[in-house]
Amino acid sequence: MTHPLHPRIQLSKESIFSHMSRLAVQHGAINLGQGFPSNPPPAFLQEAARRAIGTVDQYTPPIGLPRLREAVAEDLGAAPEDVVITAGGTEALHALAESLYGPGDEVVMLEPYFDVYIPQARIAGAEPVMVPMRLTDRWEVDLPALERAITVRTQALLLTNPYNPTGSVFSRTEAEQIVALARQHDLWIISDEVYDELYFGPPPIRLRELAPERVFTVGSAGKRLEATGWRIGWIITPPGLAPQVAGMRQWSSFCSAAPLQAAVAEALPIARREGFYAQLRESYGRRKDLLEQGLRAMGLQTFAPAGSYFLTALLPELDAETLVREGGVAIIPGSAFYLQNPAPRGLVRFAFCKTEAEIEQALERLEGYLKKVHS
Ligand code: GLN
Repeated sequence: MTHPLHPRIQLSKESIFSHMSRLAVQHGAINLGQGFPSNPPPAFLQEAARRAIGTVDQYTPPIGLPRLREAVAEDLGAAPEDVVITAGGTEALHALAESLYGPGDEVVMLEPYFDVYIPQARIAGAEPVMVPMRLTDRWEVDLPALERAITVRTQALLLTNPYNPTGSVFSRTEAEQIVALARQHDLWIISDEVYDELYFGPPPIRLRELAPERVFTVGSAGKRLEATGWRIGWIITPPGLAPQVAGMRQWSSFCSAAPLQAAVAEALPIARREGFYAQLRESYGRRKDLLEQGLRAMGLQTFAPAGSYFLTALLPELDAETLVREGGVAIIPGSAFYLQNPAPRGLVRFAFCKTEAEIEQALERLEGYLKKVHS
């Protein structure tokens, strides 16, 4: 090596999700760590992709394939001109970080947070400011703390609804108060809503509907249609801003996989019409209950998720690294979701987007392991 890489390279370290998945493979563990579904995507999506390959194969405009922009707009009640197609939710968030803030700026987020938010803010040169959520018997937004975190440097609030890793969903009061704060301080809101169709109670409030002039909504076909590796996501921007945001993403991936965009365009109306999301919720609801009841039966405290496919629990005296090596179950340690505040003691996250058989086996292994360490 003749010359060191830029100091920014410290942000390139392996994510906790990749790390735990690698350990899971290495130790033959059941992977309730990284959130990717065990089930294949629905046949109607797969078939649409097979038909698109050989027909829609060249670059699309960076802003997205027109028919997919229209399908997303139709599904979410937005204008097609305000939709930007991206390579998954991750690129959507990156394009927004590049578009909305830079050196000297601050971005306020909640803690525990989803990992990509921090490096993306820093790559853009901005500073993340973390506000811890309150944990009682459920996760709540600490609104006074959120307000105290806002300074003259704050450009945006970066929020997730339903939330990863807590599985919480904003109440109407929380959503309205967050939007009121953003209005009062003239902030953008980046609302990561990739789990929008995965909820177990009332449907989550879409922040864009409360403040269309300042909310950027991030969505994901990978999450909705169980195809996380396809990397098709989207942004709905406030009116008039989509061309500029798309202009930023043209310098990274230029456009998303063209045949997969065509396939998602075909699949979105089918999924809506045929009740695919309702089936998904039902099936995830069963798996959530299975995991929750299994953990409670072991005497562990769990925090019921209102959405997403994640469940948080307290597993004190257990180290996730040792569990994956010795107990054969991969989960994510809660500390991975905290940057500036201490994680609640023993906090862990389970992903339940796995088969019922995998969840049952993971519970058995966990119970066996806990008995062993306590004996
Ligand atoms: N969103 C998924 C999770 O939280 C995976 C993210 C990733 O690995 N990029 O587990």
